[in-house]
Amino acid sequence: MALAHTSRGIDFDTVISGIYRAQCEAKKKFGLESRLIMCFLRDLSAESAAEHLQMSLHYRDWIAGVRLDSDEQGNPPSKFAKVFSDARKQGYQLTMHCDVNQENTLIHIRECLDLIGVDRIDHGLNALEDEQLCADILHRGIGLTICPVSNRFVVQSLTSEEIRVMLDKGIKVTVNSDDPAYFRAYINENLMALVEEGDFTQKEIVQLVTSAFEEIAWLPDDIKAGYLQRLDQYVAGSVMDEDERL
Ligand SMILES: [Zn+2]
Repeated sequence: MALAHTSRGIDFDTVISGIYRAQCEAKKKFGLESRLIMCFLRDLSAESAAEHLQMSLHYRDWIAGVRLDSDEQGNPPSKFAKVFSDARKQGYQLTMHCDVNQENTLIHIRECLDLIGVDRIDHGLNALEDEQLCADILHRGIGLTICPVSNRFVVQSLTSEEIRVMLDKGIKVTVNSDDPAYFRAYINENLMALVEEGDFTQKEIVQLVTSAFEEIAWLPDDIKAGYLQRLDQYVAGSVMDEDERL
């Protein structure tokens, strides 16, 4: 959910209650579970973000964390340092969008790590250009949500080589859909694209999905363990050798 709704004059309660009802229905009808991240629009003011943080507290149990979204140009993480520090005090998880090839992206990623203290970074592929950033991301166990099909729209490449380099460095890189309605690809289509066009092995795909549960999903440990066990069982049920192509 994003402030895009409230900036169009829709009441905060209407937005979040509607989404919450849909989440409950999805669970009941399809067995689909989801958690909400509230997104601050970074092209709006820090005061606007602070107001929305305040409004969100009535619905604290419905929201897992907060995120910074939208136009990065001229809107660095530091602009929202106070809001994110207040969000942390409320127990929210923190993430920020550092899209591929944005202006000052290396500075933004550095601020995410050192100033904001994020739990994960959304995108963050350009960290590869800076050895120290890679070392710090690795050392702190920060997960990155990379979106191959979305990247293809932005930089005309699935960035599969970059994803593989991150995997080889041991960075907790994961594959995600970004905006599936817009990019016409859910997570499975993103993973399949890596297999078909990037020659990813089963072992690499399993590592990507494992990291998604271990480092990205903001879930209690017992629920994570359940998903990881289901993943193990799924992999064990497949007849291929570890290094065989999917
Ligand atoms: Zn994105």
